[in-house]
Amino acid sequence: MTPALVGSVAWALMVAGWYVIRYPFERRAKRARVERSRRGPAETLRMAISLTGLGILPGVFVATGWPRSATYDPAWWQIALGLGAMAGALVLFRKTHKALGKMWSVSLDIREKHRLVTSGIYRRVRHPMYSAFWTMALAQALLVPNWIAGPAGLIGFGILFAARVAPEERMMEEAFGDEYRAYRARTARIIPGIF
Ligand code: SAH
Repeated sequence: MTPALVGSVAWALMVAGWYVIRYPFERRAKRARVERSRRGPAETLRMAISLTGLGILPGVFVATGWPRSATYDPAWWQIALGLGAMAGALVLFRKTHKALGKMWSVSLDIREKHRLVTSGIYRRVRHPMYSAFWTMALAQALLVPNWIAGPAGLIGFGILFAARVAPEERMMEEAFGDEYRAYRARTARIIPGIF
């Protein structure tokens, strides 16, 4: 097996793992009624951009080899780093889903009996699921040996992140008031103590 092949297979396994982790929460969360929502055209657009970068472009590359002219031969150390990032991302992703439980949403929703989670993985960082997605995008950049399809996840998710955090925090502030303002004041966004 070449490093390029291992990288592509690992990327596909990462997407499969991501879905296996998310599926049961998606089913459970669907049963909790949505009380208010911040979905709209802007949210749909940023989700589509993120999906293109994290799913469609690397998926097309792994399945067909397109765009071939941007393909390169990665070193083993690069694939090893990518596998490490992949494992970290999936562990973190599962922890955040477990912590949010039925309050989780693929988009921006406040559900019936929504509680603000501020402990466990949410104690020092208020967007740990986005930390997991950044790590996953980094893993993709290392594992997918293509100059376009590899970094596309960092760009696509980066756009979603930059455009979504402010409206998400506004929504949480409207729903939880001072409790959220205090929580926001004592936490970082995605890296404990740093950002
Ligand atoms: N930004 C968070 C969650 C992403 S999922 C993270 O990165 O971990 C988005 C949904 O999670 C939103 O619909 C929002 O209502 C909910 N949510 C975000 N932070 C929350 C928290 N601390 N407690 C409860 N629900 C939260």
